[in-house]
Amino acid sequence: SINIAGLNKRYGQTHVLKGLDLSIKNGEFISFLGPSGCGKSTLLFCIAGLEEISDGSIRFDGREISDLGPRERNIALVFQDYALYPHMTVRDNIAFPLRQQKIDAATIAKQVAWAADVLGIQALLDRLPAALSGGQRQRVAVGRAIVRNPSVLLMDEPLSNLDASLRVHMRTEIRRLQKELGITVIFVTHDQEEAMVLSDRIAVMNNGVLQQFAAPMDVYSRPANRFVAGFIGSPQ
Ligand code: ATP
Ligand code: MG
Repeated sequence: SINIAGLNKRYGQTHVLKGLDLSIKNGEFISFLGPSGCGKSTLLFCIAGLEEISDGSIRFDGREISDLGPRERNIALVFQDYALYPHMTVRDNIAFPLRQQKIDAATIAKQVAWAADVLGIQALLDRLPAALSGGQRQRVAVGRAIVRNPSVLLMDEPLSNLDASLRVHMRTEIRRLQKELGITVIFVTHDQEEAMVLSDRIAVMNNGVLQQFAAPMDVYSRPANRFVAGFIGSPQ
């Protein structure tokens, strides 16, 4: 489980996350919804250990993240712009996290083949990112994230650059992958419908404060306050 308690994050004078408390069960699919600038990406960076927290705690299965090494954390992050290495082939992009861990070549080859197979990108392994479509790039980014068998996958608007039909296709695949691999997914999106169909629970944030954390139907039909009522269903 991931337990966040009394989490505050400040950048200088800017108080971005204000006393967040929430617990996520292993294997859950959680979406974060909220206006631009409310702190969603900052929260993902804190969970990933890429940003230091100002105070409070983030625990994985009871252990403080700052006490865990990268391998023990076993978290992968897919950024909004995918952040592929442009000069590396798809194969090398996917292999990169394993090479950094000094894993032997045979194991790397096996893991890359597995990730490519899961995502249906075997035929693309020798291409450079520039020669891929948006949806293919997105798969490569997911491949690079899952290649280490992460227990937690953080995704920051991974589908926002895709056209409508590809979005629907990719979100179905992400959900399938999540169920097959039993991964905990924390997914940031601007798309309420996407959050509704994908998530076990939705966290609605505003201005660094958690407004509601509940099943999609509850958020939709029993908004916790006026902010949630106004935000859910409002055109974006
Ligand atoms: P969006 O939906 O637009 O991606 P978000 O909810 O992900 O927004 P964050 O990127 O987490 O929002 O930013 C939250 C607040 O923190 C914003 O006011 C932003 O300007 C501020 N912020 C983010 N990163 C930094 C930083 N490195 N230094 C200072 N302020 C920052
Ligand atoms: Mg963001």
